[in-house]
Amino acid sequence: MIVRADESGPAMVGFANVDKFYGSFQALCDVTLSVASGEVVVLIGASGSGKSTLIRCVNGLETHQSGSLVVDGFSMPTTKDLEFGGRGEKTLHQIRRGVGMVFQQFNLFPHKTVMENIALAPMRVRRKSREEAEVIAMRLLERVGLGDQAQKYPGKLSGGQQQRVAIARSLAMEPHVMLFDEPTSALDPELVGEVLDVMRELRTDGMTMMIVTHEMAFAREVADRVIYMDKGAIVEAGLPAQIFDEPKNERTRTFLHRVLKH
Ligand code: ADP
Ligand code: MG
Repeated sequence: MIVRADESGPAMVGFANVDKFYGSFQALCDVTLSVASGEVVVLIGASGSGKSTLIRCVNGLETHQSGSLVVDGFSMPTTKDLEFGGRGEKTLHQIRRGVGMVFQQFNLFPHKTVMENIALAPMRVRRKSREEAEVIAMRLLERVGLGDQAQKYPGKLSGGQQQRVAIARSLAMEPHVMLFDEPTSALDPELVGEVLDVMRELRTDGMTMMIVTHEMAFAREVADRVIYMDKGAIVEAGLPAQIFDEPKNERTRTFLHRVLKH
């Protein structure tokens, strides 16, 4: 039994009244959300509802204009903080070191072996020796079930294997929180399970995770909390059973009816 930090514990990620604009288009509207250390939050919602934008703000791939966002104890710089003289740059780097992200497209370096893909960041960013970095990489490859694939190039692996390498690469930076943006959406259906298994194990290990997924059965199983978003706003948040079985909001009901129909 895993004991999770309760809501009153220190938040790993804390949004307070966050607004985010692309030009004049508002992509996040007054988002308030606190993710506790060790908590697994799954974001659901229609395409364009702001799920990617929300999690990309957590590692500063996008910046917000107003409200506050605290990640791992650091206050995320706003768009304006980064505009003039880059006074927020240093904080941004500090935050990024502690936040891992896995995308739909695996983004592995095609001309580097699996081992090199994983060992690179610990060497460059954490200043580990090659030897140390390779020991770390090997341990992580074994953890994602790919200990025997270290010397291969990504192109020789299946999509599911590549995504597991991408997860191992993120873990090599010893992140405090992991973000997943539709990690299984580009995979053939028979390869989805092996990636979800790795994520289940991360949860068991107590990793704080924010996951965007369309895998509703998986969401129900692993989430401590499910967040339904629409038009840039959090419409409803709750325990998986509450959201899936007794959604309170009409929009949540309509969305779930549509995605769970088949
Ligand atoms: P989701 O991940 O839920 O599909 P996104 O966060 O990707 O939603 O997008 C939310 C909204 O913001 C969409 O209307 C999208 O078109 C818009 N958007 C996303 N990224 C950009 C961008 N770089 N520039 C302008 N608009 C964007
Ligand atoms: Mg998206």
